[in-house]
Amino acid sequence: MRYYLNKLINSLNRFMYGRYKGDELNRFLIIVYFVFYILSFIPIPFFLGFFQLLSTLIFVLILFRALSKNIYSRQQELYKYLNLKNKVKSSINLQKQKQQYRKTHLYFKCRNCKANLRVPKGKGKIEVTCPKCKHTMIKHS
Ligand SMILES: [Zn+2]
Repeated sequence: MRYYLNKLINSLNRFMYGRYKGDELNRFLIIVYFVFYILSFIPIPFFLGFFQLLSTLIFVLILFRALSKNIYSRQQELYKYLNLKNKVKSSINLQKQKQQYRKTHLYFKCRNCKANLRVPKGKGKIEVTCPKCKHTMIKHS
């Protein structure tokens, strides 16, 4: 029994050797897969079969990425995913900050480089220098 188990583990290891296996993107896709899989059991008119198809496609994608030997391309996908995740995260954080300091601070974007800036409210007409691109602008706070 133990012999066959070891043999099975060895052949699995050989099969997975040099393959991409998992990363954070695949873990995220597994969650998305389960969400669509569960949604596929809810009879929503017009969407019948849609979530089932979607969850199947995502399952195939997860398998494809895990078994892929093209490590470089899979890593590029991971970097794109992480970039997007960071953008979403910082945008949520900015919205939280805007909400938290809405009474004391004025938020706006730099006209030159689109960086997010804030100044204290109630200071009247002030000259603001963007810390990123050094562009100066006049603001009424
Ligand atoms: Zn700027």
